[in-house]
Amino acid sequence: MNNIIKTIMGSDNFIITSHYSPDGDNLGSSIGLYYALERLGKKAFFVLDDVLPRNLDFLYENMKIYKSDEVSMKEYILIALDCGDKNRLCCSENIKNNAKMLINIDHHASNDGYGDLNYVDSHASSTSELIYDLLMKIDEKTIDKKIGNCLYTGLITDTGNFMYSNTNSSSFLMASQLLKLNIDKEEIIKNIYQSNPLNYVKILGNALNTLKVIEEKIATIDLTKEMFKKNNISFNDVDGIVNYTRDIEAVEVGILFKEKSEKEIKISFRSKSYLDVNKIAQKFGGGGHIRASGCTIKDSLENAKEIIIKEVINHI
Ligand code: 5GP
Ligand code: MN
Repeated sequence: MNNIIKTIMGSDNFIITSHYSPDGDNLGSSIGLYYALERLGKKAFFVLDDVLPRNLDFLYENMKIYKSDEVSMKEYILIALDCGDKNRLCCSENIKNNAKMLINIDHHASNDGYGDLNYVDSHASSTSELIYDLLMKIDEKTIDKKIGNCLYTGLITDTGNFMYSNTNSSSFLMASQLLKLNIDKEEIIKNIYQSNPLNYVKILGNALNTLKVIEEKIATIDLTKEMFKKNNISFNDVDGIVNYTRDIEAVEVGILFKEKSEKEIKISFRSKSYLDVNKIAQKFGGGGHIRASGCTIKDSLENAKEIIIKEVINHI
């Protein structure tokens, strides 16, 4: 952490990036750090080459998230946030390869330390909490209300509103400090959880119709290409649906199969009490956390389901 702070304070130009399928911690930690670098008088771009989730648009109302080909910067430091795998960084190879230095700040158990400087703490609730710690160390006054809103968003989305096992006493301390900045906590909740488009509820209905429970402990849901098309909803706007699988009585692991194309299935795993789903996802080139992980299978929905369910049955 000290080396990272020294490097940041001694440099002027930064590109921040994060992982594909952006979520609350991805955008919260990245935009929070972006605003903090701006406050410290640095030049920074936040680059993400993916479709942005609609329910988090309040975070980037007053700033621009760039695509890789829109940015040309020389002599920059690349800061990778909330991403456990260099291949999953959502920016061009050019941006990755031309960086003077790569700083990797993350909380994924599967992170292999791919940066030149690494700050990886798999016990941290969220990358937003790590950015909070970093900024508190630089200077408490760096964190204003705007940054507080970003970091609070990452904290609550990654802990499931302080519900999951990654919630610890430092998460509540951070929340307590941020609330003192008079952050917009009700607005944040309203934006993230209480502004679903009607089509989200409709696709949820379609998804729940595919629910299957296997050997009492495994539950699966499918989201097909047709469902996305019929309900006119983006692939990155269905966060939260996987939770319906895990939250069934006696179920230990919930799996969501998202059909991106006929040959590409994105899989989300969620476990409740004991199963290490990071291990399972890593078997298929993915990763994540013990209780939440994901991977992609380049095959049909039918085949992907067969391969994955077989593997999960072996672990349960
Ligand atoms: P989700 O199911 O919400 O997409 O992801 C759950 C967790 O697993 C997140 O922390 C996410 O970053 C991680 N994750 C999801 N898919 C992948 C993947 O393909 N590779 C890696 N390394 N991590 C993933
Ligand atoms: Mn995270």
